[in-house]
Amino acid sequence: MAKRDYYEILGVSRDASAAEIKKSYRKMAIKYHPDKNPDDKAAEDKFKEAAEAYEVLSNPDKKQRYDQFGHAGVGGPAGGGFGGSMNVEDIFEQFGDIFGGAFGFGGGRRRGGRRVNRGSNLRIKVKLSLEEVAKGAKKKIKVNKYIACSTCSGSGAQGGSYDTCSSCNGSGTVTRVTNTILGQMQTSSTCPSCGGDGRTIGNKCKTCFGDGIVRDEEVIELDIPAGVGEGMQLSVSGKGNMGARNGIAGDLLVVIEEIPHEELVRDGNNLYYDLYVNFADAALGESAEIPTISGKAKINIQPGTQAGRILRLKGKGLPSLNGYGTGDLLVTINVWTPQNLSKEEKKMMEQLRKSENFKPSPSSRDKSFFNRMKEYFTE
Ligand SMILES: [Zn+2]
Ligand SMILES: [Zn+2]
Repeated sequence: MAKRDYYEILGVSRDASAAEIKKSYRKMAIKYHPDKNPDDKAAEDKFKEAAEAYEVLSNPDKKQRYDQFGHAGVGGPAGGGFGGSMNVEDIFEQFGDIFGGAFGFGGGRRRGGRRVNRGSNLRIKVKLSLEEVAKGAKKKIKVNKYIACSTCSGSGAQGGSYDTCSSCNGSGTVTRVTNTILGQMQTSSTCPSCGGDGRTIGNKCKTCFGDGIVRDEEVIELDIPAGVGEGMQLSVSGKGNMGARNGIAGDLLVVIEEIPHEELVRDGNNLYYDLYVNFADAALGESAEIPTISGKAKINIQPGTQAGRILRLKGKGLPSLNGYGTGDLLVTINVWTPQNLSKEEKKMMEQLRKSENFKPSPSSRDKSFFNRMKEYFTE
């Protein structure tokens, strides 16, 4: 059978661009695709013929030889060659990327869609102090995980070469035909020989026994942003377990654990501190030292400060994770009532007790906890 001209097969002119050739071939391939033309030998032949033409014309070197010498220039025994010997699967294997998502069926056929092993995600916990939460933290964490085997560069094969799986011809799927009362049923499943990989390894790497991955420790640097909180999960893409045989790595999931602060209590981005002052300081006024996330600070207790008053130190809380604004530090002033008094102290107290100024006369704003909360929320 005389071979047809490759340009003629693809319906393009001799000076067609690479893009035009590709576009035309794609159109042909879809038109004559065996899945679209079941049991149509003529269509299958056209499909193969187009693939052969494309195989030559898409390769600049072969194209040049073809242009110069015709069919003889691109070799192969006359009448035989590529189109005749190559099966449909092979065509997909070679040009899988061209088809892209053009076919909703037969996905297992495409080598382009061959399953890639993705490593599993790895979850680790990282403890942070409140100070680290406030500033953000760089942490070096030693992680025990699967990494690519260095002996075989992750291929699992000695020397790095694979064989095509003979059970599935590299497709990764096997098709079984069963007879049912409704007729023949075709079912596709993952190839048991290669596990869907489409490849087998003749000589397995002796370090990783063919997996392409080994367990090892890796030190990973984490850059934890300011404002994170207990139980939050950060994901570091590609730092989890490596996938088998040149797979892709899973993610590293970092779960934040907050070490409780000795004195400050966190609620969202706000911090709370309970300050205890003595009765005299509350009445006379005094300065008091309080802890903050960035060290000690002094605050003034105004003369006549009532127990339960909340002082708000704006911006002395924690930064928000999204970078907008900072919380406050809320200091609740508690007045400490003495529990053990000497005789003399008792005497003084007795005198003070009679004083008119010691008679409670709360203003409405002092009256109740509820009012104070109202004040706090509307401030
Ligand atoms: Zn297989
Ligand atoms: Zn190896």
